[in-house]
Amino acid sequence: MSKKVLIIGAGGVGSVVAQKCGQVPEVFGEICLASRTKSKCDAIAALIPRPIQTARVDADRVPEMVALIKDFQPDLVLNVALPYQDLTIMDACLETGVNYLDTANYEPLDEAKFEYKWQWAYQERFKAAGLMALLGSGFDPGVTNVFCAYAQKHLFDTIKTIDILDCNAGSHGHAFATNFNPEINIREITQRGRYWEKGQWLETDPLSKRIDFDYPIAGVKPSYLLYHEELESLVLNIKGLERIRFWMTFSENYLKHLEVLQNIGMTRIDPVEFEGHQIVPIQFLKALLPDPASLAANYTGKTVIGCIFGGVKDGKTAQKYIYNVCDHAECYQEVSSQAISYTTGVPAMIGAKLMLTGAWQGAGVFNMEQLDPDPFMAALNIHGLPWQITDFNGSI
Ligand code: NDP
Repeated sequence: MSKKVLIIGAGGVGSVVAQKCGQVPEVFGEICLASRTKSKCDAIAALIPRPIQTARVDADRVPEMVALIKDFQPDLVLNVALPYQDLTIMDACLETGVNYLDTANYEPLDEAKFEYKWQWAYQERFKAAGLMALLGSGFDPGVTNVFCAYAQKHLFDTIKTIDILDCNAGSHGHAFATNFNPEINIREITQRGRYWEKGQWLETDPLSKRIDFDYPIAGVKPSYLLYHEELESLVLNIKGLERIRFWMTFSENYLKHLEVLQNIGMTRIDPVEFEGHQIVPIQFLKALLPDPASLAANYTGKTVIGCIFGGVKDGKTAQKYIYNVCDHAECYQEVSSQAISYTTGVPAMIGAKLMLTGAWQGAGVFNMEQLDPDPFMAALNIHGLPWQITDFNGSI
């Protein structure tokens, strides 16, 4: 039963994934953690009470990935590097006949799209090879998709509306910092807002639509409509859906900094000429901002992420709220990480566990809601992300 997993990426999320896999030796018998900077892998390995292997790899280069896979012979490649590496890692998996999992959709370097089309294009190749690729096994996407599948399976006959609400009510003490990779985070937030209603996508100016939502435990927080990648697959897979939107909390302070950075061009993703060099402003900005993993030690407060569903059950209208509350300081105590990395890394480990034990299997490319939610929901309760279901009586 015990299997081998190759984890790519040694950032905030990679650290949690490696440590959580380390806690489940009966499934993850052997672990190799590989990334562009091997010293980061070694530092994470030192946090794990049993020995794991580490390696250096540039995952942009398929031959390097193929060589590493052939050397370690994993049963699964778990990709928590950056979205730019998704396709090269999928190519290497196809070439070597190994299953694949990630937490974020592929992004081309030069345009912020947050679309699945590039990875869905691998469907036939994974099917033909008898291999499984599981896309977006983080929290959002990831757990939010599983909450939708669970609501569809157990709570509703038809789900008509879904609102995904992502609240970080934590405080890290910096004037401005992002909670995961700054480049990906800022690209996501500064794009135009988009949601789906009655069969069509509707656009909004970035961060222009706000609600003040009363979150469990965290209280009332301003929450802004964003486009988020799970909307694309959920629209296809939740039958009868009439509207789906995604909301995220931001403090006034965060938005003030972001607006200034945007106005002066620091969030641009195209190269500019500087003293004879081409530099991409957002990559330079990333070098100046705190490393998201470094926020963990002083982070206090909680995240509250979940989905509100409206629909019909047994002929009656109903609204339900499924959510998780996660505490930054408790995450730090367990795995020296903050809650954003934790809430991403734990579901990545769970997705891998379900694939390796055969609870989730199939040939082709899958989004999370296409698989049975029950074993995943049970595993969330066991591995540190317990969830609640309540009736919801308000309106959004
Ligand atoms: P970090 O920037 O902290 O870490 C990324 C890691 O990937 C670094 O170790 C980096 O190496 C490594 N890496 C980058 N390029 C390459 C390459 N070419 N070859 C090998 N390794 C490489 O990011 P996070 O840990 O915060 O995020 C990891 C992933 O998780 C991202 O894709 C992010 O979008 C996703 N995510 C998903 C969420 C969800 O809920 N679904 C939420 C949060 C994040 P180096 O240190 O050398 O730069």
